[in-house]
Amino acid sequence: MILVGLTGGIGSGKSTVSALLAARGAVIVDADQVVRDVQRPGSPVLAKMAERFGPQVIAEDGSLDRAAVAAVVFSDPEALKDLNKIVHPAVGAEMNRQVMAELSTDHVVVMDIPLLTENPREGLQAVIVVDVDPEVQVQRLVGGRGFAEDDARARIAKQATREQRLATATHVVDNSGTLDDLAPQIDRLWVELTALPQLPPDWEMPAPKPKDA
Ligand code: ADP
Repeated sequence: MILVGLTGGIGSGKSTVSALLAARGAVIVDADQVVRDVQRPGSPVLAKMAERFGPQVIAEDGSLDRAAVAAVVFSDPEALKDLNKIVHPAVGAEMNRQVMAELSTDHVVVMDIPLLTENPREGLQAVIVVDVDPEVQVQRLVGGRGFAEDDARARIAKQATREQRLATATHVVDNSGTLDDLAPQIDRLWVELTALPQLPPDWEMPAPKPKDA
């Protein structure tokens, strides 16, 4: 296994790059997807959230009511900490499980993590950053994903800056051009990723550094 990270600001094109890597044979471990999976109806995580925040965080169909959770944690930092304490360990364990299931293969495993710069990880052999000007992020979020411009700008402002993200990169994908401009970059990137050394079969995932509780 070759283990790398992929990140980028919201609307940078991270999901687009992830799909292009998957098309070349990468196994994607998708943090957003794992968050949704661990909060699926009937999950222990969802039960703990209802216990802490009240039954209104579970919708009638048994799924998570994200707006209800957001309303609780928005103005209450303690509640946000508690939410992270419930969700993060489950997400971390499931992501590690998916990665370790690939250890004895020769696959390139891509951990697709939106907030990788904000929450750095040990053990990655490369960090791929999808880079665009923040104004392009705004345009694509508004034009391609139906965001209101204010909302797009507010979300970008909450994330790491372009410079902070680039400082963590070993590989940069420039997504300021067209989708057609991406393919040759991903071809070159794929050559570089597949040339990285295979991790040994007894490799272990480094323990996460303790974060402020
Ligand atoms: P992220 O996963 O980083 O939030 P996406 O991959 O969803 O971003 O891309 C944001 C939007 O911009 C999507 O609608 C996507 O189709 C579009 N997009 C991505 N790359 C380009 C590009 N090079 N040119 C035009 N639109 C793009």
